[in-house]
Amino acid sequence: MWKTDRVARGDGQLNHDLLPGEKGPQDACGVFGVYAPGEEVAKLTYFGLYALQHRGQESAGIAASDGERLLVYKDMGLVSQVFDETSLGMLSGHVAIGHCRYSTTGGSTWENAQPTLGAAAESTIALVHNGNLINSAQLRRQIEKGEGGAAAHPELRRGNTTDTALVTALFADASGTLEERALQVLPQLRGAFTFVFMDEHTLYAARDPQGIRPLVLGRLERGWVIASETAALDIVGASFVREIQPGELIAIDPNGLRSRRFAEPDRKGCVFEYVYLARPDTSIAGRGVYESRVEMGRALAREHPVEADMVMPTPESGTPSAIGYAAESGIPYGSGLVKNAYVGRTFISPNQTIRQLGIRLKLNPLREVINGQRLVVVDDSIVRGNTQRALVRMLREAGAVEVHVRISSPPVRWPCFYGIDFATRAELIATGLDVAEVCRSIGADSLGYISEEGMIAATRQRPDQLCTACFTGTYPIELPEAGDLRKNVLEVPRDETSVPTS
Ligand code: SF4
Repeated sequence: MWKTDRVARGDGQLNHDLLPGEKGPQDACGVFGVYAPGEEVAKLTYFGLYALQHRGQESAGIAASDGERLLVYKDMGLVSQVFDETSLGMLSGHVAIGHCRYSTTGGSTWENAQPTLGAAAESTIALVHNGNLINSAQLRRQIEKGEGGAAAHPELRRGNTTDTALVTALFADASGTLEERALQVLPQLRGAFTFVFMDEHTLYAARDPQGIRPLVLGRLERGWVIASETAALDIVGASFVREIQPGELIAIDPNGLRSRRFAEPDRKGCVFEYVYLARPDTSIAGRGVYESRVEMGRALAREHPVEADMVMPTPESGTPSAIGYAAESGIPYGSGLVKNAYVGRTFISPNQTIRQLGIRLKLNPLREVINGQRLVVVDDSIVRGNTQRALVRMLREAGAVEVHVRISSPPVRWPCFYGIDFATRAELIATGLDVAEVCRSIGADSLGYISEEGMIAATRQRPDQLCTACFTGTYPIELPEAGDLRKNVLEVPRDETSVPTS
């Protein structure tokens, strides 16, 4: 495994967030795997991760094996910063896995970057993970009681504080082939997980029984691909075969693909993947994310109509819903803001003058388009409200006579324990304020959120097969006691509210 100092370090700022320091919902990783003898598997993985970069920008890593030697290369930063021709050239073989990571606070370190490494009887294990386990504290206690305790496991010894390192250790502590070990360990895990893992010969993938995060299987002419999103299959030229089913473990080796069920499926897909997290060109459970977002905009127009001159999105995440709102309402669609897509990725710390520019660092209003107009501004969600407040102010300063804000998800009132990092409950604006108060707080002329029913209908999924916990507070996987759910459960005293994610 390599640790380098020569690449630029990531600042985690390349994201959809429009206001510096004002984090939107953060996904917790993209995973990718490929089994393809005769192909440059590390390069395929590189481009797969490139397509999944929106799911995590803090670190990236790839493991590859030629059947005898399994190597890992990982570092902090974007996929394009971590890898170059030389590093990819070292990762030769026929099987590879890759990861791009977003972490919760405190966990963005090289030690926590993935893939993680462990040892089985006569093989090496490399593992990547998207999601978040909710029984990490219990799993850690179990490992500590085992022979040699946590210190027996290199990742934990090195200071890796993620749930992924725990699963790697559990695989190492189990017995038999890696497939047999996985079948022993996976039923013990609670929470959201999509794993892609490998030894020197075989590629594996597994998805939690609720299928909270997406994971799909694709086919290359000479092999197989696993990815968090269908968009990553498209980018490497793989055709979509099917989803990895909730509760399913698959293995791919020279004998082909085999599937085992390690738990009964109880599907509860994350509705927020449709609202915001996934790429618009991805499909989840047979439904296109872009079409879902357009339909959410249409539903918003029916539920919260208003007289206005122009519908515009908060770029880019509000765009499909704004298109839907405009189509349904008959109000013309327009762009009132231009986004500077690259400014977020700066390695220069902003001074006070720059910081005060706030949202202007990322968005520039088109005054000639906005001046004198009654605007409908469509966004995907409101977390703390600071972004929308700054946006409304900017539009008024550019001459808007009315600003009506429409949101294509219901108010976010509850934290996510399944791999998405929102603000804390106290920071969520909708926890303390009703809709009229939020409207006043952000300075809009009116505010309308889509209903839960409208959002769910747009996904074309059965309501009982979706997780909507951050909107409803009803968690589909029973949560352990609060003390075991705090942030950085493996590294700090019990005073916070979620666990480190992978
Ligand atoms: S709580 Fe919200 S973000 Fe988390 S899995 Fe459920 S729907 Fe998705």
